[in-house]
Amino acid sequence: MTAHAFLSASGSKRWMECPPSAMLEKQFKDVQSAYAAEGSFAHSLAELHLNLYLENISKHKFNSEWNKLQQNEFFSQEMIDYVDVYVGFAIERINAARARTKDAVIQIEQRLDYSPWVPNGFGTGDLITIADEIMEIADLKYGKGVPVSALDNPQMKLYALGAINQFNLLYDFQIVRMTIVQPRLDSISIAELSVKELLDWAENTVKPLAAMAIKGEGEFKAGNHCQFCKARFTCRARADKNLELAKLDFQDPPLLTIDEIAEVLAKAEELQKWAKDVSDYALDQAVNHDVKFPGWKLVEGRSKRVYSDEKEVANVLLAANYAEDIIYKPKELVGITAMEKALGKKKFGILLDGLIIKPAGKPVLVPESDKRPEICSTDSAKADFAEQIRSNRSAQN
Ligand code: SF4
Repeated sequence: MTAHAFLSASGSKRWMECPPSAMLEKQFKDVQSAYAAEGSFAHSLAELHLNLYLENISKHKFNSEWNKLQQNEFFSQEMIDYVDVYVGFAIERINAARARTKDAVIQIEQRLDYSPWVPNGFGTGDLITIADEIMEIADLKYGKGVPVSALDNPQMKLYALGAINQFNLLYDFQIVRMTIVQPRLDSISIAELSVKELLDWAENTVKPLAAMAIKGEGEFKAGNHCQFCKARFTCRARADKNLELAKLDFQDPPLLTIDEIAEVLAKAEELQKWAKDVSDYALDQAVNHDVKFPGWKLVEGRSKRVYSDEKEVANVLLAANYAEDIIYKPKELVGITAMEKALGKKKFGILLDGLIIKPAGKPVLVPESDKRPEICSTDSAKADFAEQIRSNRSAQN
């Protein structure tokens, strides 16, 4: 598992919004999620390709490392294709830097030390180039669950500070360009700041917040940044924030108004996430640690009937003269995601060009800040909604 700083760059949004979270998290175990392991593996593929391109390793070494990587559970054609998008971008930026200056600095997977502002703070920059007055930092994000923008992104800004700390005395760059490549969302997000702006932010914002965080001081503040906090299941500040919903002062008239419903909608998503986190935590405690919660008990959940031996079931039914088309399902294509994974993004795109459609999505209510354009409640949207309600009801019956 990759080493992480106590006040890590990847967790910086959290410790900067909620400084005491860093100390609170210390009492919880570090568990690497499957998504994080998959992301690390994607980085290994990218690093290997870039090392070959930069002639840091021989073709022989590349092949032997590649053979090892092929044994990994996450290795797939789909991942190779997505990592290729990042590698292509990185090579383009390397060439652009070399075109500006022959002796451009090119670093990959570089440890970046931002400890002058954050005690023991360090992170890893996927790609750094320095040529003339511009330093570029690029970061591969393999996940696709949360779109990540480079704009005002504290993780990228801390990497930039680490790189400034390391290279500023040796090279005369004034501008830092920060790019996040998120190939599975088809996204390349770029932000630029001057070295001066970054150093101001470091002194006036980062340093005081880090000083509070390292001592466990400051105010607990819940928000979106709680999503990956290790304390999120039982954190009191998060519970308090979510329980505020129950305290909404709805009195007369007896039915909620449009404004009150809007207020509930605004809080419902976070409330649902929080309630799910608490339920998951409680189940884990009950199943794996024998914890009893007053008024609650552990029971067997509902289960579906399954054939104990599919071959034997078929033998019995065929012997009893049931036709194959009655006892077997017709051939069915695997789902689109599984197909893309099996074929790889490129082949999938070439072979199935024009054969994949994206029907209009079912209507959903989202906050006005959402980037998707507003739709009118057309007849087709109403029909979709009616269909959704019908299928929900039949699933419940
Ligand atoms: S769950 Fe949220 S409020 Fe609680 S410590 Fe973590 S970041 Fe802070």
